[in-house]
Amino acid sequence: MNALIAAELERRKALWEEMKRISGGNVPADKVPVSFVRQNDIYHPQAGTYVDQARTLPLTEDGIGATISIRLRGNRYTNYINEDGAKFAYPDTSNRGADRNRVQASKNAQRLNLPIFIIIGDTARKNGRSVYERIELAKVVKYDDSDKSFVVEFINETPIPPSTEETDDFELEESGKVKSARERIGLRQSEFRSSLIEKYGLKCAVCNVRHPDLLDAAHIVAKAERGTDDLRNGIVLCKNHHAAFDNNLFGINPESKKLVFLSKEIKQELNFPQRKLKTATGVLPNIKALRWKWKRFQKVLKEANQ
Ligand SMILES: [Zn+2]
Repeated sequence: MNALIAAELERRKALWEEMKRISGGNVPADKVPVSFVRQNDIYHPQAGTYVDQARTLPLTEDGIGATISIRLRGNRYTNYINEDGAKFAYPDTSNRGADRNRVQASKNAQRLNLPIFIIIGDTARKNGRSVYERIELAKVVKYDDSDKSFVVEFINETPIPPSTEETDDFELEESGKVKSARERIGLRQSEFRSSLIEKYGLKCAVCNVRHPDLLDAAHIVAKAERGTDDLRNGIVLCKNHHAAFDNNLFGINPESKKLVFLSKEIKQELNFPQRKLKTATGVLPNIKALRWKWKRFQKVLKEANQ
């Protein structure tokens, strides 16, 4: 990757982290002052698509630059916005040439793998300041010239490189001696754990715990239920949330990935800072495993409410 593009990628990631911090760790970032957004050249009101030619022109050879942000407001251009992403129409103003360039700039962002900011909704007043309701970091996943639309996916977490620390331990166990059944099981578990952490990253999938000593490699369909060791049946959870998940104190909606709680008390007591399943690498477990577990949770939830 060219150094200018790499620097712009880092700048955007750092700005996103800062916006999350300003919002108290929230995703999407909210209550971010308009002044912060302007000062950092994240968005300036400009027909919905902000390119910042001075900054991004050198990144592309077509002399058009790469979109930094898109404002979605009202539904004139917007097809849908949900928790995972949005679909919206190409800009359509009286200035056809400028519209074409804005579309190309968003295609360029996709080609260069640069995330863009999606600024959603109106501004509000908060503590005497003008703030944005909702800001998401997104990647352009699709564009359709015949339909004249973009699809973006919201990226909630900046992926962190998977840790390799856990695998060292496993290497040491690779001796030729015959192992007892118990040792073999231990070996399988440590392999499962290190592979799982490599796949999903070092973070509880439902909270911010990242300390390796506090993280478990959990099965979605439990071993006791003859759940497979296939990594897609796995999930990294902190010890509290692992026990809570196994005991159906909370569930994960397999379709929306939203967290649902057995009771209000559990929600408060167990500290769930995020609304949805979210891994450090962005990779999610298999939907069939989640559906199986969700059925169990639904049953427990129903019994609890009877
Ligand atoms: Zn947790």
